[in-house]
Amino acid sequence: MKRPVIGITSLQREEEGVGWLPFNYPAAIEKAGGTPLVIPALQDRESIRGLFQVLQGLLLSGGGDPDPFIFQEEPLPGQGQIEPRRDWLELILVRGALERGLPLLGICRGMQVMNLAAGGSLYQDLGSQREGALKHMQEAPRWYPTHGIRLSPGSRLASLLAVESCRVNSFHHQAVKKTAPGLIPCAWARDGVIEGIESPGDSLALGVQWHPEAMFTGDPTMKRLFKGFIGACRGGSP
Ligand code: MN
Repeated sequence: MKRPVIGITSLQREEEGVGWLPFNYPAAIEKAGGTPLVIPALQDRESIRGLFQVLQGLLLSGGGDPDPFIFQEEPLPGQGQIEPRRDWLELILVRGALERGLPLLGICRGMQVMNLAAGGSLYQDLGSQREGALKHMQEAPRWYPTHGIRLSPGSRLASLLAVESCRVNSFHHQAVKKTAPGLIPCAWARDGVIEGIESPGDSLALGVQWHPEAMFTGDPTMKRLFKGFIGACRGGSP
């Protein structure tokens, strides 16, 4: 069967001039039937657009905090590390993917960037901005799920995961605040924090706040998520 080429954005340590990516992102894409292609922090708009000639899908990986300037806010004390070159790249990529209907999966920061690229906003720091928030920065192994989520019945995400609720890992201190026009929330933690967003349109654009790539090996639900994404990238019904 055809193996779609899936671009995966990389993390940036800009002060050191280093781009990097944990193994488990490309491993999950490869095991689910795709060919992963790691994208460096390209800065030229035309070279970034050139990726659309090659890619059949786009995965936005996790990482640092998007610059709050993107959603017209000044930084609060709890705001974390910013990767400006990556913000620039990913905003162009997400807007291009949404325009073209290129299947898109945003993980953690990736879901947040998706939401910003489409015009939404974020909590810069859940602990200080949202009373009653659960512990979303877990102190447990990455593969281990620490909180539950409820999925919106009938959502694309619920159909891909084939469950109505499940438990997920959690490594974020930011979250979607205002969902962007054109995207809808489709998963929530018990405290009401949005854990998934998706496009209601035909092409797959899905963001998850947890790290399914770290749960992939031992969790059939997360395997279905990646397989469903690769299926959409092949052009089958997502
Ligand atoms: Mn969480």
